[in-house]
Amino acid sequence: MMSTTVALELKNVSKTYSTGVVALKGINLEVKQGDFFALLGPNGAGKSTTIGIVATLTQATAGTVKIFGYDIEKQSTLAKLHLGVVPQEFNFNIFETVLDVVTNQAGFYGIPRKTAQKNAEYYLHQLGLWEKRFDIGRTLSGGMKRRLMIARSLVHHPKLLILDEPTAGVDIELRRQMWDFLKEMNKSGVTIILTTHYLEEAEQLCRNVAIIDKGNLIANTSIKKLLSQTKEETLVIDLESALKTIPKMTGFHVQQVDETCIEVTYQQGTRLNHLFEHFNQHGLHITSMRHKTNRLEELFLQLIRQQEQ
Ligand code: ADP
Repeated sequence: MMSTTVALELKNVSKTYSTGVVALKGINLEVKQGDFFALLGPNGAGKSTTIGIVATLTQATAGTVKIFGYDIEKQSTLAKLHLGVVPQEFNFNIFETVLDVVTNQAGFYGIPRKTAQKNAEYYLHQLGLWEKRFDIGRTLSGGMKRRLMIARSLVHHPKLLILDEPTAGVDIELRRQMWDFLKEMNKSGVTIILTTHYLEEAEQLCRNVAIIDKGNLIANTSIKKLLSQTKEETLVIDLESALKTIPKMTGFHVQQVDETCIEVTYQQGTRLNHLFEHFNQHGLHITSMRHKTNRLEELFLQLIRQQEQ
């Protein structure tokens, strides 16, 4: 049965820092229970500020935030009980053991020590840190520290998990493992919200997405719909030898950058086989190839242009 419970609700949330920086300009957002939600946006957009406010690490200048219906200010104990947060900065006690970092956190929620130890063991296993349980936090690698932060955020079994750039600085293999872990968590019923710079990450994991730019919400839709908005793609292709005539192909627009470099633009979804067949037929050898712009950047530019119109 589809649930319509709202896991997170932001109403007219604004934030002006004491420095005068206006980080959020009246954000309205609803994330349903069970969702896997991405908060995307360029650097400085206001993502961390939003998370900081939900986690009550930062106070909003105006607006209200509810977690499973509980106001984070008026019913903070209940709100916090349902929430796990993994901030970007490592903020655990680096002199404690891995096991202590996780079990001690449970104390904040009034969880009995026995239960805390059981939960800690479960999540440390899940996150591949059980072998490291007696190591001091300081000695862990960056990826392990990140996983420790995740284990700690889960010790009270929150129904909503928010992660700020969970895979920043994490190598590719570990990133995949973390994705699998988060997917499993979501399958088991945990609502997940993450911020990311990587469109690929949002694409892999999330069903719905909001985009923040300069403190404003500029999109709030499903990942599917968002991705279908990028209509054109451009490949930058380097050739082995100088090009004499520009190849003509229906469905592809070719532009010469220099003697051995061209840009090919086409509608997203176009089969590229024709392109390569054509190159083969004309004896054009490709030495390297890349997307001209990052798709996320392209999307931002498109959305920002739409906003300005
Ligand atoms: P993001 O997470 O999307 O990169 P942030 O929420 O960190 O964006 O930042 C939004 C804006 O608020 C930026 O202009 C940033 O410089 C500013 N900002 C963030 N934290 C603080 C702070 N503690 N004091 C003053 N300004 C801040």
